[in-house]
Amino acid sequence: MPDRYAVIGHPIAHSKSPLIHGLFAQATGQDIVYEAIDGGAAPGGFQRALADFRAAGGRGLNVTLPFKLAALAVADLASEDARLAGAANALRFEDGRIEARNFDGIGLVRDIEVNLGLPLAGRRVLLLGAGGATRGAVRPLARAGAARIVIANRTADKARTLAAELAPHLDGVPLVGGGLAALATGEAFEVVINATSASLSGAAPELPACAFAPGALAYDMVYGQGLTPFLRLARAAGCARLADGVGMLVEQAAEAFAWWRGVRPDTREALARLTVPLA
Ligand code: NAP
Repeated sequence: MPDRYAVIGHPIAHSKSPLIHGLFAQATGQDIVYEAIDGGAAPGGFQRALADFRAAGGRGLNVTLPFKLAALAVADLASEDARLAGAANALRFEDGRIEARNFDGIGLVRDIEVNLGLPLAGRRVLLLGAGGATRGAVRPLARAGAARIVIANRTADKARTLAAELAPHLDGVPLVGGGLAALATGEAFEVVINATSASLSGAAPELPACAFAPGALAYDMVYGQGLTPFLRLARAAGCARLADGVGMLVEQAAEAFAWWRGVRPDTREALARLTVPLA
């Protein structure tokens, strides 16, 4: 009998996770089935679906919106990344316990360093947005050796509060938070990451061209949308290195697969299948 895994979210029909994990299983010869579960909009839907899945022998879940916070709350054991992110995107069921991890930030770091070939050590990193995606990215970026991390958000206080909360956990890597307007003072960054949801509504965060250092990477966590408003803004500012978040999605999936199965899949085929040209 194959081991059962799934992704749970609401809505879930759009999820690429079944395709990605199917490719991983095929390439590594792992005997698994991987499905998509809609946790529904009703209160308690996630908890009920989780209990049913475990009762049916499920071994692990990927968790997507809107259940990442609830996934952390049900865990018996959680990694520090998940605790600091305040959210989990992967669960494993073992020895009667629920273990939680958050691989989004590690996925982002692996995409930048391995797939895009840009070591983060010594780089100044600008994170736009102060929601769950930024929260999950800060510690892995610091661990990768970023020289300094700035969180800039439309609502400045949210960025300040988040930076104050996370700064003590970064082994001395400087982290500050503030508003987008403060970026006009002229500090330039080698890596600029759009972790806002602005692209989903056809907008870009208001960002001055001086925020992009010469040769900077502009990275939009949104994926599958081609050249997003943020990437267009970056290109207009003279930025030639552009990427969307498809690699982050695939790499976080590979981390979960390796955690569940003990074997790291090659991510190249999944990346090739899901990449949409940035044009
Ligand atoms: P979230 O918690 O809802 O946070 C949204 C953030 O975007 C907030 O900081 C908000 O600012 C800001 N924002 C929204 N519209 C804006 C606009 N028009 N201009 C400027 N700022 C705006 O969302 P999230 O969970 O952090 O996700 C952020 C993005 O990352 C989403 O697009 C998501 O799809 C993507 N993501 C991708 C991956 C991947 O694997 N590639 C993984 C996780 C997330 P305020 O605080 O001022 O409202």
